[in-house]
Amino acid sequence: MSTQTQIPILDLKPQIEALWPDLQAAFERVMKSGHFIVGPEVRAFEEEAATYLGVKHAIGLNSGTDALYIALRALGIGPGDEVITTPFTFFATAEAISHVGATPVFVDIEEASFNINADLIEPAITPRTKAIIPVHLFGRPCNMDRIQAIAAKHGVKVVEDCAQSFGATWKGRQTGSMGVFGCYSFFPTKNLSAFGDGGMLATNDDDLAATARMLRVHGSRKKYFNETVGYNSRLDELHAAMLRVKLPRIDAWNEGRIRVAGHYRTLLGGIKGLVTPEVVPGHVFHQYTIRVQGQDRDALQARLAEQGIGTMVYYPIPCHRLKLYQESHATASCPVAETASQQVLSLPVWPELDPGIQGAVAAAIGQSFV
Ligand SMILES: *Cc1c(COP(=O)(O)O)cnc(C)c1O
Repeated sequence: MSTQTQIPILDLKPQIEALWPDLQAAFERVMKSGHFIVGPEVRAFEEEAATYLGVKHAIGLNSGTDALYIALRALGIGPGDEVITTPFTFFATAEAISHVGATPVFVDIEEASFNINADLIEPAITPRTKAIIPVHLFGRPCNMDRIQAIAAKHGVKVVEDCAQSFGATWKGRQTGSMGVFGCYSFFPTKNLSAFGDGGMLATNDDDLAATARMLRVHGSRKKYFNETVGYNSRLDELHAAMLRVKLPRIDAWNEGRIRVAGHYRTLLGGIKGLVTPEVVPGHVFHQYTIRVQGQDRDALQARLAEQGIGTMVYYPIPCHRLKLYQESHATASCPVAETASQQVLSLPVWPELDPGIQGAVAAAIGQSFV
């Protein structure tokens, strides 16, 4: 192995160092309170997050995956129902649909945005369609005007997967505040993250919020008076206290990511055979994902790894091509997602990423294209 400096794809150390005294204070506050599950920190975080997002209710949960399936359960979606989503996403999106017993219907993506192609949603709607789950992939907001209009026309619900898009906006509105539910993840690599698993639901609907809260604690509104089979899916006090330290910084961090993306564009924009992401309003660059067209992506990734540069392929297999869905979705045709899965490469990005390091990454990539 080489001894040169390693460049990871994500470095959380600058963030943790900058917040150390505040995180320590939050830790002490929770430890001394003796309250560890849904207490004052979770309630305060829920209020602060709801205010930030501009929604009536935020409900802290123990993961983004739980947020997705509790949203679907709260909407009464289950066996016999269909839910339209993108195949080019983390598996949890499709998994949540399968988990509640419904059938995921995969609709191809747009070439430039990697997000679900709204033009293809309407032809996929059937009498069994109950919901659409757009995923704001890599932090880029989907075209919510189109998606909301199609959903309204056909009477289906929109559940936004915002796991990668905390703080992203569509025409000034927060992702997750437009659909009937917004589903967030605080997994350590996300733009707003806990120090372990965590998640959240956002909604403006009082009844759905109450149902989601009930499902969060074993299907009970009143302790030991369980109404339905629910989950144990609570956000911990400790994570909520840490998230309260981080939430006020999210806009500055997202601006840092946007700055990093702008610099990459300057450095990489002229390389033939390489496509950089479009600069669009509201994109918060959870990932900076290029397309490698002029050469073999895996070979480029291996060469960068040899030079100590961390990259990732999100995602190598679109969901409709996963073995577990092969039988039921053998006929699904999503050629744009399939090509993307062969070409995408996500580069190091975090808010404090040094322009000099970006220069080294770009130089290593550039060498590969000469
Ligand atoms: C991370 C992620 C999830 C799942 O969130 P967890 O908190 O890890 O359960 C769901 N959807 C997408 C698009 C994600 O990136």
